[in-house]
Parts: sequence; C-alpha cells; structure tokens
Amino acid sequence: MSESCLVCDEVNGQIRVPGGHLEEDDRVSVFHCPIVAPATEVFSGYLFVVSHRHVPGFSDLTDAEAGAVGVAIARWSRALEAAGAEHVYVVRVGHGVDHLHVHLIPRWPGTPREISWMHVDDWDGARRVDSAAAAELVTTLRTIDTR
Ligand SMILES: [Zn+2]
Repeated sequence: MSESCLVCDEVNGQIRVPGGHLEEDDRVSVFHCPIVAPATEVFSGYLFVVSHRHVPGFSDLTDAEAGAVGVAIARWSRALEAAGAEHVYVVRVGHGVDHLHVHLIPRWPGTPREISWMHVDDWDGARRVDSAAAAELVTTLRTIDTR
C-alpha cells in the first residue's frame, strides 16, 4: 500500500464503491467505478480490475497476480456482455494513478456508431446511473455465472 493512493483506498474500502466489491482476494479486486462528488451519477457498468498490491503496471506483477488479473478481466467482461453490453473495451492507461487499474467499459446497445470507444461513457445519451442503480447492476452482475 502507498500513501494517498486512490486505488489503494478503493481496494481497502476507504472509498465506497457501488454495491461493494465484485471480487477481491490477495491478488485482484474488481469493483464498479465509484461516484465522486460533486458528480451524482456514473456511467453504468464501468468496472475496474485492479491489482491488490500497489504496483504501477503489468510488468510489476508476479505471474500469479497477472493470471488473476487476466482471469478477472475475462470473467467480468463476460458478465457485462451477459447483462447486455454489446462490446466491452479493456483499457489500461496509467497516467493519472500509479496503481495498476484496468478499465472495463461497456458499449451499451443504442450507442450511435459514430461514438468512439473513448466517448461511450460521456456522450449525451450515455447510460448514467446514480449510486443505487449502480449497486443494483453490481448485484445483477454477481448473479451471472462467469466461469
Ligand atoms: Zn495503490
């Protein structure tokens, strides 16, 4: 753990995530993007798969951690697709926070073709939800057999 790391705070529960963690163990944590004030809504189904340990990138993971992160990406992509996403974008950027976090960004039906992957979450018609609705989706995702 690092001092004042946003992802560590999410992993350790100091920042509440809608519906609680979808998956967590000593290698990986998966959770819905939290709503950070002053925002009152978040893009529905925007998940993060993060290494439990505070490391900057994939090259810092042990093989066991990399395996757990990879399986979690596959599993929760399947869950989003089963929940209706027509595509799941998997993105690792790492410019803002130096704790490995992979973005799983669903493309929901009805998103116009001209909306690129980078804007599926912020166009005018993007499926935004409040904390309760995000938690409800998390509950639904938990019921989907992703193995
Ligand atoms: Zn961290």
